[in-house]
Amino acid sequence: MKIAFIGLGNMGAPMATNLVKAGHDVRVFDLVEGAVEALEAEGASRGASAEAAARGAEVVISMLPAGAHVRGLYLGRDGETGLFDALEGKPLIIDASTISPEDARFVGAAAAERGLTYLDAPVSGGVGGAKAGTLTFIVGGAEAGFAQAKPVLEDMGKNIFHAGEVGAGQVAKICNNMLLGILMSGTAEALALGVKNGLDPAVLSEIMKQSSGGNWALNVYNPWPGVMEGSAASRDYQGGFLTDLMAKDLGLAWELALGSKATVPMGSQARNLFALHSAQGNGQLDFSSIQKLYRAGEDD
Ligand code: NAD
Repeated sequence: MKIAFIGLGNMGAPMATNLVKAGHDVRVFDLVEGAVEALEAEGASRGASAEAAARGAEVVISMLPAGAHVRGLYLGRDGETGLFDALEGKPLIIDASTISPEDARFVGAAAAERGLTYLDAPVSGGVGGAKAGTLTFIVGGAEAGFAQAKPVLEDMGKNIFHAGEVGAGQVAKICNNMLLGILMSGTAEALALGVKNGLDPAVLSEIMKQSSGGNWALNVYNPWPGVMEGSAASRDYQGGFLTDLMAKDLGLAWELALGSKATVPMGSQARNLFALHSAQGNGQLDFSSIQKLYRAGEDD
């Protein structure tokens, strides 16, 4: 298929590369020249702008940092014409960025007004999943659009879910990441309590794994350094899923709760913990580094 891919960052670059490898005709655009050049080296062609990349495309995929970028791309910013009004044909629009459901619905409604099909398709699986082509896509949008998108998404991911109407993909993704933030901070808290009281973190981890405290953060992403080989904790929390991104997703959960009058005391607590941890200079570390927050003053 002819695919335009816009946003070639940590996630977008490997995703677009996998589309090239799957045999698609991929034309890319990013504000950063080096990112475009790297994709050209993988066999993609370049668009001089988002509009140029999308010319003649059957599918447009975007992978941008946040809602403001997605609105700006499709609807224009500062009086400029957005991509929706510059399109010649009617490609399927797939936005894989993590943004608020409200932003997704806003952009989705603008697409519908122009006779375009828009899907929100945030991903889970991180940079590793993007490179390996094993991402989980959580899609919101019309059934027909989902059916059209599925084979393309399967070239970048393993599990493709249809969560509901436009915005539903973002709601599901936000719920999942709120739970993950709660589980990670809770796991770090329990480990720190045990260690403070004389336990070996590896022994305590094994006990809790086999007991009712077992959970994904403890079982496969242990936040204590040295407990699990290959974990982010065991490589100084370098790489992985950044604290800043977790703080962003917990902020989205908080906004979603405010807007829907939902009560999220645990999610709010987790948001504050990750925001504080980020403010202390840990934003670019893996999110399991929240363990450090619980170890402050350990040598006292
Ligand atoms: P990133 O900051 O590495 O990449 C974003 C890219 O978008 C950059 O290359 C930037 O130059 C480009 N960009 C911004 N505005 C643009 C515009 N108007 N036109 C063209 N290009 C533009 O971000 P990332 O880590 O790739 O994440 C992308 C999205 O995926 C985010 O919403 C993030 O929350 C989500 N996500 C990230 C991860 C992860 O582990 N990194 C995991 C799941 C979901």
